[in-house]
Amino acid sequence: MAIKDQSRPPRSRQIGNVLLLLTGVFLIVNLVFPNLFAPPVPRVPYSLFIHQVQDQEVDRVSVGQNEIRYQLKDNGEESGQVFATTPIFDLELPKRLEENGIEFAATPPPQNRWFTSLLGWVIPPLIFVAIWQFFINRSGGPQGALSIGKSKAKVYVEGEAERITFADVAGVEEAKTELVEIVDFLKSPKRFTQIGARIPKGVLLVGPPGTGKTLMAKAVAGEAGVPFFSISGSEFVELFVGVGSARVRDLFEQAKKQAPCIVFIDELDAIGKSRASSGFYGGNDEREQTLNQLLTEMDGFAAGDETVIVLAATNRPESLDPALLRPGRFDRQVLVDRPDLSGREAILNIHSQKVKLDATVDLRAIAARTPGFAGADLANLVNEAALLAARNQRQTVMQEDFAEAIERLVAGLEKKSRVMNEKEKTIVAYHEVGHALVGALMPGSGKVEKISIIPRGMAALGYTLQLPTEDRFLMDQDELQGQIATLLGGRSAEELIFGNITTGAANDLQRATDLAERMVMAYGMSKVLGPLAYQQGQQQMFLGNEANPRRMVSEQTAEAIDQEVKAIVEKAHQQALDILSQNRDLLEAIASKLLATEVIEGQNLHELLSQVKPAEQPADKVHASV
Ligand code: ADP
Ligand code: MG
Ligand code: ZN
Repeated sequence: MAIKDQSRPPRSRQIGNVLLLLTGVFLIVNLVFPNLFAPPVPRVPYSLFIHQVQDQEVDRVSVGQNEIRYQLKDNGEESGQVFATTPIFDLELPKRLEENGIEFAATPPPQNRWFTSLLGWVIPPLIFVAIWQFFINRSGGPQGALSIGKSKAKVYVEGEAERITFADVAGVEEAKTELVEIVDFLKSPKRFTQIGARIPKGVLLVGPPGTGKTLMAKAVAGEAGVPFFSISGSEFVELFVGVGSARVRDLFEQAKKQAPCIVFIDELDAIGKSRASSGFYGGNDEREQTLNQLLTEMDGFAAGDETVIVLAATNRPESLDPALLRPGRFDRQVLVDRPDLSGREAILNIHSQKVKLDATVDLRAIAARTPGFAGADLANLVNEAALLAARNQRQTVMQEDFAEAIERLVAGLEKKSRVMNEKEKTIVAYHEVGHALVGALMPGSGKVEKISIIPRGMAALGYTLQLPTEDRFLMDQDELQGQIATLLGGRSAEELIFGNITTGAANDLQRATDLAERMVMAYGMSKVLGPLAYQQGQQQMFLGNEANPRRMVSEQTAEAIDQEVKAIVEKAHQQALDILSQNRDLLEAIASKLLATEVIEGQNLHELLSQVKPAEQPADKVHASV
C-alpha cells in the first residue's frame, strides 16, 4: 500500500518564479542601458549655450525635458562638437533659436517608454504575489492560497508493495473479528441491505496508545480493497476558524464520489472533545464548528446507496462528545486492548520476522515477562534487542539481548558515569535490599528478579526489578497494601540501619501515596469512607491513567480521606519495618554482597530471598483494621 499525496507544489508557483526572474533582468538592463550606451557628452552651463547661440556658433539643437543637446557648426574639416546643458525655464528660447536661424527640435520620447511603464504596472503586483506565495508556503500548506479549505486526506491505493493486512496485526482478536465484519459490509453491501439491515456508519476504535489502532485501520483498508481516506484529527484544527469544517465537508465530498470507501479519522479526540468540557467561555469555536460539521456529514449520507464507513481511533473515549457516540454516528465501539500472554507472543512473532533470531530464543518466555506491554512496546522491544545484539557483535539476536532490552525499557539505560561515593552506595544498597525483602514476602508485586546498584534511567540510583508472573486484571486489597509496603521497604531499611533518612525515597513515597489515595477514592477500599467514588466524574477506561481531581466533598469528608490515605501508608510502613527488623541479619548479608558485586539476580537471588522469615506478629489483615 502506498500513500498518494494529493497535494503537490502547484505549477503556478514555478511560473511565478520565472516571471519574477525575467522582470528582474529587464529592470537591471533598463537601468544600465542609458548609462552604458549613451556617448559621453561634455556638459556646459546654460549661459554658455545662450552665448554660443547668440554668437551664431550653434548648428542644431535638440530640446529634451531634462537636457538640451546641441551641435556646433563645422569649422571646416571636422563636424561640429556636441554639448549638453541643463535647461532652465526659458520661454524665450524658441524665439532666440529662430532669430539665429538654428535648426531645432524636441527629442523623441525614449524608445522603450511603453516598456518602462508596462514594468511599472506589472512589477508591483508580481512582487505582491511573490510575497503572498512565500507566506502561504511558510504557513504549511503546500497547496496554495485558494485550496486552504481542501481536506488534507491521504488516499491509500491498493495493490502496492507494503500492503498491511490483518496478518500484520495480532493479539487483538475480538477487535479483528469486528473489523472483518466491516470489511464484509464493504465488499458485498447487497447481502446486508437486501435483508433490510442497516450498515453501520461509524466504528470507533478505542484503546490505550500503541495497541495498534492505526495499524488496524490500515489493515482494514488493505483487506477491503476500497479507497481509504486517512486523516488525523489534529489536521482539522487550524489557525483559522472555519477551515476545519471546510475540510470535513471537502473530505466527505471526495469520499462520496468514491463510495464504497472508508474514511479514517485518527486521534478523533482532537476535534471530538466534549463541548461541555471544553472551557468556560464558549470553548474552542473552531473545534466546535468542525465537530458540528462532522456530525452533519455523518447524518447526511444515507447508508444505502453510498457506502461510506467512517473509522475513527481515540485513546480517550471518555472525553468525546456524547453526540458522536449516539446511534447513527459512531454507534460501534471496538475495544483494542493491551494484548494478553498469547497475544504478546503472536505480536513478538510478527515483529521478530524482521530480525535474525537465534534458534534458542523463547518468545513465549519473553511474552511472559512483559505483561502490560502494548503492541508498540513489543515492536520496540524487538528492535532494542536487535540493536543490543549488533552492538555486542553477534550475528543473531539471543535471549539475553531480550532480557537486557526489557530491563532497559522498564528501568531506563544504565548510567555507569554517575559515580556515587562509598557512603551513598551503602545507603542505596540497603535501600534496594529493603525493597527486595519486603517484596519477597508481601503479595501483589511480582517476583523479585534483580537487585542492582548501578544507576539507571533518569533518577534511579539503584533499582529492584520485579516482574509479574502472570497477567493480572484485578488486584485485591491485600495486594495493593503489599505493593505500598514494598514501595516503602527502601526507606524503612534506611531508617532501620542508619537511623536517618535520605532524599532517595521521594519517588517511592509518591507512588505509595498515589496508590493509597486510589484505594480510598476510586476503589472504595476504606471502611470509614465506604464504597463511594470520591474522584471527579468520568468513568475511567483504563486502570489508573490520570490523576482525577476530587469530587466536591464536604470539609469533613476531605479530612477523612486524608486520614485514611495516611493510615494506609503508615500501616504499610509499619509492615515493612516489621519484616526488615525480623530479617535484619539477612538484610545486612545481602546488602554487603550487593556492595561487592553491584548486581544480584536469577537463581542466586531467589535462594537468598527464600530465607526471608515473615514478621513475628503477622500484621493484621488489612481489612480488619482499616
Ligand atoms: P495506536 O494507533 O493504537 O497508538 P499504532 O497502530 O500506531 O498504535 O501502533 C504502532 C506500532 O506498534 C505499529 O505500527 C506496529 O508496528 C506496532 N503494533 C501495535 N499494535 C500491534 C499489534 N496488535 N500487532 C502487531 N503490531 C502492533
Ligand atoms: Mg494511532
Ligand atoms: Zn526505592
